[in-house]
Amino acid sequence: MSVVMASVCPLDCPDTCSLSVTVEGERIVRVRGSRANPYTAGVICGKVAASYPEFVHGPGRLLAPLRRAGRRGEGRFARISWDEALDAIHERFTAILRAHGPQAILPLNYAGPHGMLAVGSMDLRFFHRLGATLLDRPPLCGGVRTQAWVGTFGPVPGMRPEQVAHARLIVAWGNNVTSSNLHLVPIIQAARRRGAKLVVVDPRRTKIAEQADLHLAITPGTDILLAWAVTGELERLDAFDRDFIAEHVHGFAAYMERVRRVSPAEASRACGVPEAQIRQLAAWYAALSPAAIAVGNGLERNRNGGGGIRAIFALPALVGKFGVPGGGLVNAASFAFPKTPRRLQRPDLAPPGTRTFNIVDVGKHLLDEALAPPVKAVFIYNHNPLIVHPDQNRLRRGLLRDDLFTVGCDVAMTDSMAYCDIVLPASTHFESHDLYPAYGQHWLQRAEPAIPPQGESLPNTEIFRRLAARFGFEDPPFKATDAELMDDALDADDPRLGGVPPGRIPTDRALPMTFNGGEAVLFKTVFPATPTGKVELASGHLAERYGQSLPEYRPVRSPYPLILISPASSRRITSTFGGLKPSDAAPPLEMHPEDARARALRDGMTVKVWNDLGEVHLPLKVTDAVRPGVVSTPKGAWLRTSDNGQTVTALVPAHHADLCAGACFNDTRVDVAPYMEPPRTPRSPS
Ligand code: SF4
Repeated sequence: MSVVMASVCPLDCPDTCSLSVTVEGERIVRVRGSRANPYTAGVICGKVAASYPEFVHGPGRLLAPLRRAGRRGEGRFARISWDEALDAIHERFTAILRAHGPQAILPLNYAGPHGMLAVGSMDLRFFHRLGATLLDRPPLCGGVRTQAWVGTFGPVPGMRPEQVAHARLIVAWGNNVTSSNLHLVPIIQAARRRGAKLVVVDPRRTKIAEQADLHLAITPGTDILLAWAVTGELERLDAFDRDFIAEHVHGFAAYMERVRRVSPAEASRACGVPEAQIRQLAAWYAALSPAAIAVGNGLERNRNGGGGIRAIFALPALVGKFGVPGGGLVNAASFAFPKTPRRLQRPDLAPPGTRTFNIVDVGKHLLDEALAPPVKAVFIYNHNPLIVHPDQNRLRRGLLRDDLFTVGCDVAMTDSMAYCDIVLPASTHFESHDLYPAYGQHWLQRAEPAIPPQGESLPNTEIFRRLAARFGFEDPPFKATDAELMDDALDADDPRLGGVPPGRIPTDRALPMTFNGGEAVLFKTVFPATPTGKVELASGHLAERYGQSLPEYRPVRSPYPLILISPASSRRITSTFGGLKPSDAAPPLEMHPEDARARALRDGMTVKVWNDLGEVHLPLKVTDAVRPGVVSTPKGAWLRTSDNGQTVTALVPAHHADLCAGACFNDTRVDVAPYMEPPRTPRSPS
């Protein structure tokens, strides 16, 4: 007999779909979209529909604690009991604490699951109480955009994506909505049927770009110049809303002085976008209202990322596009929810003065012989750092250190788990309670377990509850049940919860996050929460934190001629699901015919892609869907797809973006040549 249960997709995706899960016995047999969340409205992406049952029950699922029995990275493990696993962790951590102090222990976690309990609750309480080194996670993704938003508008939500339906002009800027913002697609299409124009800014001719009225195939990392060129053209068209600027914009004169330094011709050359296209975008932006801009994550992943996003965020303020549904920016949904992270994660438990590492720099710190105290233990969870961090080879060298004790916790034996000394089996979100705010829409959801924890796996909260008990942390924060953690996660007094404790929010419907009785509309129902109360084009907050009062442009210089980008694909969520098909092949490298001709490369041949950091071998796809000078391959492929133990992040430099010290995946510069070696058996390089 089967039953259908309500659930929520927890993956690192802005949409956070509500799900209907068909369960037979203790097995999930089918996952479909549900209508509990009106925004996702019964539709889910193919990757989740096709992969989830196998992800939960397939041969790759971790079902018991393991101890490493082979070389690091080899993937040979022996089964052990939970008591043995917890004892081993306690014994090694205790020795490290005595010899080097607690900061020699480093949690290395990100956002594999996005439920509030799974992503950061009892785990962080444990590491805070332990005194472990703190980890700054947002720099890996999303942090640059968030800081750009907070610096410009403060911690307030932007437009609900549903409002795009009202827009007469939609700009998808660095946002491959088909892969990364699926539910925006039908809204855009409905708006277009009513006559809205669609502009796409993307180095690739994506599916949505094919449908656009105007596609600006920009050179990656030059968004700031394009936004400034559009701004200059808007000024020339006398399209600025001078009254709005006088009343609501801070730093206008200083900002415009910077904008005017770049001529339209210079911007056009650097961006690789014809001046006529820049003028067209500006003309439409001046003439059409409401105008909605939906900014993706890709354009933050370069050293000018923060400046580029700030320059885009400035556009609606300069032209007075706010104050109406569908006008402004689809962004910052995470500020729509009444989250109380300090109560949930208890950063006050960490000893004062505890050091913080940027997640992008972990590989560097692991290899730093002068670091005091050195990192002697790493605890990897909710994360597959070997596949997703910049400078893969450096991180691997760090994880191969003989004196490093590495604990892992995951649902599957990922490439990163294969480097761990002890591996703990985590439950999937179908096996635990959690709360789901979103970062791409304004509906709050909760889910209960659809099935019990599989095998000996446990939810993250229970794993860290047991670890805390093993370390003698007996105080109340470590005894909290999942229901109590949920109550700590959100402000129960927020009227939008209707007096219901967070741990009892209904699971059959999502709660809308409203503002002053209506939807979030900047300058109507929500207002900037910056220090000046205005839209800050010159930001004191960003000046203080990052030394960037005004956006800046710093070109990337490299002897390598091609820009390599690694966007999301329709096969994986970052690296999640990457291990499901052992037969997975290396993903293609897309290259423009001009670049292929210049290198005597043919479609279908295997090429080597290299720079000073590494080399990968990929099948070549020659296509004019990617602009000249740019090559593209999807992110997230596992090492099993590689013949030399390196994937695309082996080529990614580890320098920082202008805001948030963010990762710069799209600053990768490479060259490409025929690969002469015969294909070899996939192997790990350890
Ligand atoms: S990955 Fe995104 S689109 Fe796919 S089911 Fe999950 S939330 Fe929905």
